[in-house]
Amino acid sequence: MPNTSVAVTVDGLTKQFRTGGEPLTAVDELSLEIAAGSMVALTGPSGSGKSTLLHLVGAIESADTGTIVVGDRDITKLRRAALAAYRRTIGFVFQRYHLLPALSALDNVIAPVLPYRVDFDRAARARELLTAVGLAGRERALPAQLSGGQQQRVAVARALIGEPALLLADEPTGNLDSGTGAEILDLLLRLRAERGMTVLLATHEQHIAARCDRLIRLRDGRIAEDLDLTGGDDDRDSTLTRATQLRL
Ligand code: ADP
Ligand code: MG
Repeated sequence: MPNTSVAVTVDGLTKQFRTGGEPLTAVDELSLEIAAGSMVALTGPSGSGKSTLLHLVGAIESADTGTIVVGDRDITKLRRAALAAYRRTIGFVFQRYHLLPALSALDNVIAPVLPYRVDFDRAARARELLTAVGLAGRERALPAQLSGGQQQRVAVARALIGEPALLLADEPTGNLDSGTGAEILDLLLRLRAERGMTVLLATHEQHIAARCDRLIRLRDGRIAEDLDLTGGDDDRDSTLTRATQLRL
């Protein structure tokens, strides 16, 4: 069943970190509209605010100022219980997979749903997701018995167990060789097409960013470049040539 995708509208978003001395502005009055169902690449140098922006949209960190409207709710206004409920409606994929080493692939996919959906056939749904990510037959494998690419497939399946309308991925191919990374991107593109979710993906790899619908380059917590890549392939090539000149 397709997920319902959501639009994300960020307005005047600021996040500072204080670790003694001057506060550091990681996200600086950033405003952004992401269309429902689109797949957007966030790029920019290390420290430009990609992870912080994903953490704010995923309600892993709280904003200092500004609003983040996901679907029809401003998530910066949500209180504790509503925030926890919101977090269960999004999926998050990390660079280092973050699987629980003592749990099988299947149990890693099931784990996030516990204990919220007691009448839900979790194992059947998790099996179906492992098949969807190409891991049928590997349900009982432990993370250490799987390659990096396979572990990231488990992490993608886990991110989808709550049928998220929004998937956030922080350098999901950053630990993988470029061929395996391209396969993970193929998977995300296919799942997005099948399920209709919105995808926001941080990456500093051009071959990954090039296949998204839109490329947003951050610098110092602000948007330095915003490129639409949905034109034809020729448009995409010339747009990316420009992006390369801008040192993606
Ligand atoms: P990116 O993902 O683009 O590399 P980050 O969002 O991780 O960038 O970091 C943006 C800035 O915020 C960096 O200067 C980083 O050092 C700082 N930062 C991020 N998280 C924290 C934190 N938890 N505490 C202090 N500073 C942080
Ligand atoms: Mg980061």
